[in-house]
Amino acid sequence: MFLKSIDLFGFKSFAEKSHIQFTDGISALIGPNGCGKSNVVDAVKWVLGEQATKSLRAERMEDIIFNGTDTRKPLNVAEVTLTLENDGVLPLDFPEITIRRRLFRSGESEYFVNGAPVKLRDVRELFYDTGIGKTAYSIMEQGKIDQILSTRPEDRRALFEEAAGITRYKMRGREADRKLERTEANMHEVDSVLTEVR
Ligand code: ATP
Repeated sequence: MFLKSIDLFGFKSFAEKSHIQFTDGISALIGPNGCGKSNVVDAVKWVLGEQATKSLRAERMEDIIFNGTDTRKPLNVAEVTLTLENDGVLPLDFPEITIRRRLFRSGESEYFVNGAPVKLRDVRELFYDTGIGKTAYSIMEQGKIDQILSTRPEDRRALFEEAAGITRYKMRGREADRKLERTEANMHEVDSVLTEVR
């Protein structure tokens, strides 16, 4: 899978529509301090469904929307789009996949996969076992390796599970367990209603 491009609009310092195109090999973002290099990495995490504001270096989610400068008014929406070349790793039958997340200042949030509205859960599921995604290993930030080495073995195991391709099944198992619990609770309720009416 290959990250072809990132489109940003209204995300942090990106007040203008910006398009970053990647080519084969190693790409480096260079620029003076504070020009927005880390904001690009934040944008990638955000579009993949990051909900933790701390990880996005923001206090509230609204802070990721361009908040204006002396010469420019704040914007009311932030939008990031990732375009990925799909070589079969992502379980969708398209050679190219776009993931878009949009957030309005009102708090309304939207996700799209190839232009179709989806839920956050769908975006997360799409990336399970690919090494991409919120808790995966494709984004190695400062201190992340130390953090991985010092975490509890059970937490570290999650990385190996992602690499081994079983996260998707574990998540589905957990979802099935939750459904079972809900169904059992409903059955208890039905039983008590039946006892009452009998
Ligand atoms: P360094 O090299 O120091 O790590 P950097 O190039 O990685 O810097 P970033 O941390 O990506 O820079 O960007 C910081 C800039 O983004 C700051 O100038 C900050 O004012 C701006 N910024 C962050 N959030 C917003 C926002 N919501 N609206 C406008 N600008 C923002």
